[in-house]
Amino acid sequence: MNNPYSELPSVDHMLQQDAFRKLINDYGRTLVVKAVRNVLASVRKEIASNPSMKWNEKSISDACVTSILNECTSSIGPVFNLTGTVIHTNLGRSLLAEDAIHAVLEAMRHPLNLEFDLKTGKRGDRDDHLAPLLREITGAEDATVVNNNAAAVFLLLNTLARRKEVIVSRGELIEIGGAFRIPDIMSDSGARLREVGTTNRTHRRDYEDAIGTKTALIMKVHRSNFSIEGFTASVEAKDLADLAHQNNLFYVEDLGSGTLVDLSKFGLPKEPTPMDAIRDGADLVTFSGDKLMGGPQAGIIVGRADLVKKLKRNPLKRVLRVDKMTLVALVATLQLFKKPEMLPQKLTTLRLLTRKEEQVRAICEDLQGSLTTALASCRASVSVEPCQSQIGSGSLPVSLLPSYRLAVRPGGKTTGRDLNRLAKAFLSLPIPVIGRIDNNALCFDCRCLEQVDEFRAQLIHLLP
Ligand SMILES: *Cc1c(COP(=O)(O)O)cnc(C)c1O
Repeated sequence: MNNPYSELPSVDHMLQQDAFRKLINDYGRTLVVKAVRNVLASVRKEIASNPSMKWNEKSISDACVTSILNECTSSIGPVFNLTGTVIHTNLGRSLLAEDAIHAVLEAMRHPLNLEFDLKTGKRGDRDDHLAPLLREITGAEDATVVNNNAAAVFLLLNTLARRKEVIVSRGELIEIGGAFRIPDIMSDSGARLREVGTTNRTHRRDYEDAIGTKTALIMKVHRSNFSIEGFTASVEAKDLADLAHQNNLFYVEDLGSGTLVDLSKFGLPKEPTPMDAIRDGADLVTFSGDKLMGGPQAGIIVGRADLVKKLKRNPLKRVLRVDKMTLVALVATLQLFKKPEMLPQKLTTLRLLTRKEEQVRAICEDLQGSLTTALASCRASVSVEPCQSQIGSGSLPVSLLPSYRLAVRPGGKTTGRDLNRLAKAFLSLPIPVIGRIDNNALCFDCRCLEQVDEFRAQLIHLLP
């Protein structure tokens, strides 16, 4: 009887072919041999279930190339964020300024004086590169930095309030994404939460009544992803700082999204800054590096020098420390704030946030034809519509930015499934395009689209 397997080429035979010699040259023997083995094994399996199955060397060789290419692509990579949310946590939040990108490249390539004092030739402190900039920009006495803002809050509470009480208004017991909830962070840090007031109204006397022998600090948490409207009352930062200091307590603020300039100068809604908090008497202020500040992921703490020193002595500081890439990116980003006039151009996040709606509209109109052509086979209509972008990442929750979007509506009677299929086609592009389904259309807000040519060029890969 004829054995259908006996005609299959051997691994060695395949590797002798010119095409495979070239593959070995480009990808190395390990990966190529693995691919050939896997492909031959799966052909054998198919023959087992279907002995009359057709194969030839070409189909085997093509399958090997596909397998090798698959092995070499990683699951993480660039996408087009056309969701309409500028600082999108799931899409990596802020885009870094070119200066910061350059600094990271240099830090990766060369040794650097990360913890080396070039004046004395002795060991230095990585925070020393940041602290002078943060002192100058925020007016605080000193500063330090950790992995992210959640870590900053955790370090602060663990250092200043372990086994003690922290007074927070019930209107500020926030959740930022599943994992960051103020009450949980507090209990994990060893601090005890003392909630005061109600969801909508908290008064000075609520704080006063809560102060006791166990109190360590009064904390204000910025409502960064929601707002409370209607019959509301809260206590001004200044008053809280006074109250805390009169009782020998510390007053701290978790700002969340810390912008280092007055955004209203750029036509954006005003957002509280660390400078305001320090001026109002906060002893320490925490904020994120990768929200409105437009830098890398980091948690920045500014405030009283003696308290910063305490934070730095906590072994947790070492656990939560930032790496050299984050540090140089932060330094480069902070340097930009010395040249405020340049910010809307150079700070990428701010550039996207301040884009005029007419500019976005022009991009949409420019792409409307290409997109219509690319989708011709499914008779989709593509229209340009006004829309509203969100700032995102818990920054400025209620303010929306006027923008424009491309709205794609598949031809005929559109079902949710058609829209999902279309959305998937855009996700399968070489640089996946992420939009949003709204009003029975697949929508692409072009506020964050700067690489228009790259976007257009890959539309030919769109499978209807
Ligand atoms: C975003 C945010 C945090 C968490 O900051 P990460 O940098 O994401 O860790 C904490 N507090 C507030 C008020 C925030 O807005």
